[in-house]
Amino acid sequence: MLNLNANQIEAISQIIQDDHYAFIYNNISPSLVPDRVIKDLKARGLIEKTISLSSFPKDSYMFGQVSAAIGHNAAQNMTPAQFEKFIRGKKYIPLTEAEKIMVEYLEKEAASYIKGLGNKVDNQFRTIAIETDKDQRRLFEWIIKKEAVKAKELRLNKKKLASNIGHETKDWSRELLRIADTVTHNAFDHGRAGYLGKRFGPAVRVYKRTQRTACPYCINLHIKDTSTWEPRIFTLSELAGKTNVGKPRSQWTAVIGTVHPYCRCTLERIPEGYEWNAKSGIFVPPKGTGKYSEAVKLTIRRT
Ligand SMILES: [Zn+2]
Repeated sequence: MLNLNANQIEAISQIIQDDHYAFIYNNISPSLVPDRVIKDLKARGLIEKTISLSSFPKDSYMFGQVSAAIGHNAAQNMTPAQFEKFIRGKKYIPLTEAEKIMVEYLEKEAASYIKGLGNKVDNQFRTIAIETDKDQRRLFEWIIKKEAVKAKELRLNKKKLASNIGHETKDWSRELLRIADTVTHNAFDHGRAGYLGKRFGPAVRVYKRTQRTACPYCINLHIKDTSTWEPRIFTLSELAGKTNVGKPRSQWTAVIGTVHPYCRCTLERIPEGYEWNAKSGIFVPPKGTGKYSEAVKLTIRRT
């Protein structure tokens, strides 16, 4: 039978936390992991040998820039090599100091979400481990949710056990995905905003492209008229100054980036002089200018 004593619970809990730190180290930035933890991670072989120079929030930010510069479809059809080439090429506008600070902020925010998830999983584990006194089977069921862990491992290999808790628990991986997804889209949208700010200035008119399947909050914040799907129009600077962090839903406003987890709403520029055309459901150029190239209804299929 599995009887975890206080030391074993502590050791497993430590491993759960370390696994989250390893994710931060390998995917966001080593600088966001405390030195004492890095030692443990190295000892446990959790540090990937080749750390990419970039982080996933930064990559997403850069991808946002590229998509704002050349359009969603063209950006999405790029291979990773073309993407690299583009952001290193002459056409690319380097990040400003303010943007670098923004990327650092996005990285820290992502790390804090991951760390928060680590705490949550840890709490979940501790609760179940303590309740085991009442019903040991529950702990087993929780741990052996998929298939991999055998009873032998439960006793003999606590490290493997904790790693399996993490990797085999559906809820955990779903939540990790949710965080990665939200962080990615948030950074992507900020990247778009960064590019539009550099290229067109803070007064550029923008809207948040909102799908019809979006949540009622986003629809309310971003859509002026739900019968024609006419979006609300903002200036970039207006949105840039806003945040929903720590606010109740009733006080949410339109922002750059995600309004909530899994938010897919995306910042779009309205070319100068363009007006909303209810009939066609897009912004169109002023009559007689012949500038139709930009009046393309774009679709994003980011996963
Ligand atoms: Zn949304």
